[in-house]
Amino acid sequence: MTRAIVAFGANLGDREATIAQAVRDLAETDGVELVAVSPVYETPAIKDAGVDHDAPGYLNGVVSVETELAPHELLDRLLAIEQAHGRVRTEHWGDRTLDLDLIDVGGLVLADERLTLPHPRAWQRAFVLAPWLDIEPEAELPGFGPIRALRERADDEVHRR
Ligand code: AMP
Repeated sequence: MTRAIVAFGANLGDREATIAQAVRDLAETDGVELVAVSPVYETPAIKDAGVDHDAPGYLNGVVSVETELAPHELLDRLLAIEQAHGRVRTEHWGDRTLDLDLIDVGGLVLADERLTLPHPRAWQRAFVLAPWLDIEPEAELPGFGPIRALRERADDEVHRR
């Protein structure tokens, strides 16, 4: 079994309901056991040009799981759950009903055309680091160090709900 961290975000529709269902979908996946669910944070949308206060805000959080799935199998499952919630891709970093990202899978470092681990932007995103710290205060992001130190340097705006 491998410990993995999955981040979720939603900024359209009934965000709480979407996130709750996505967590259930993940928990019901064969070969995946839910370990912990973080508190939820409210965060402004970040677009290519930076923070966009005109776009609907996000709810963000993370879950930790133990899994027998290979990293790409877990990614496929996350993409299927996103699809099931009707995510529509209109623009890069566009608004979305549900975004699921694989943040860390057992400390693995890899990059191919489908998957980069750890997630390439996790180290600088308070909306990932803050909820992750809540459930795993001693965690480290491979190649980047303790998430507690990363969280102190991340300056994006997050509000615990
Ligand atoms: P996004 O628009 O951020 O949801 O990007 C989704 C795409 O990023 C997926 O089709 C994945 O193949 C790719 N991807 C690469 N690395 C990751 C990762 N660590 N977690 C989730 N998606 C990833």
